[in-house]
Amino acid sequence: MLSIRVLTLFPDMFPGPLGDSLSGKALEKGLWSLEAVDIRGFTEDVHKTVDDTPFGGGAGMVMKPDIVSRAVESVKPRGRMIFLSPRGKPLTQDLVKELAAEEHLTLLCGRYEGLDQRVIDYYDMEEVSIGDYVLSGGELGAMVLMDACVRLLDGVMGNADTPEEESFENGLLEYPHYTRPSVWEAPDGSSHPVPEILTSGHHAKIAAWRHEQAERLTEGRRPDLWEAYTQKKAVNSK
Ligand code: SAM
Repeated sequence: MLSIRVLTLFPDMFPGPLGDSLSGKALEKGLWSLEAVDIRGFTEDVHKTVDDTPFGGGAGMVMKPDIVSRAVESVKPRGRMIFLSPRGKPLTQDLVKELAAEEHLTLLCGRYEGLDQRVIDYYDMEEVSIGDYVLSGGELGAMVLMDACVRLLDGVMGNADTPEEESFENGLLEYPHYTRPSVWEAPDGSSHPVPEILTSGHHAKIAAWRHEQAERLTEGRRPDLWEAYTQKKAVNSK
């Protein structure tokens, strides 16, 4: 069972969207657990101060190392300790798979300008980014990470929704999907049939068509993934 502790200044944000749908049902079934730890609870002054101005000057406030460290120390066992940060390594499906296989994860959500570097260094935190943009806090990043991990846990997805063919599984984006009606009448009166191959009942040809679509999409949309995929293919065919 995956047990996750999230250290945050906004514990009421959790479980938030993770309490619904797949992740919410899994939480109810005890397939994973989530505890939000309120960093502010570890302050000792009347104002419950968690941040201070940066040494060296500059804009914004910095989360204090003493307070955050007390919050971290309260969590045992911590398992992998992750600080959500735009400076971190990108959250990829490979990293998600690794994290989903852990027993314990501790996620630390930054706010303001970020966290005093000494705490990051002291605990040797793994910094993880959910993308090249700046959020106002790590909470949404932690939710993204948790959602991606939880859906991979045993018993969370139905058999019909197995992730083997999903985007990134084989280095490719996923092929396009179609469902009934087989001919869709669009609002402007035009008719849009599904690709004929999909109604042929020929499983091998459908699989080949989907693979080709996945390759075409990946090549067009994600040159970075495409290059890695073609290189791997070349090595494997040697
Ligand atoms: N001053 C920081 C910088 O420029 O790198 C940004 C701080 S941001 C306003 C506050 C917090 O939001 C960060 O400490 C981090 O926890 C979280 N955060 C922002 N963008 C993120 C991202 N792309 N991935 C993960 N966490 C992020």
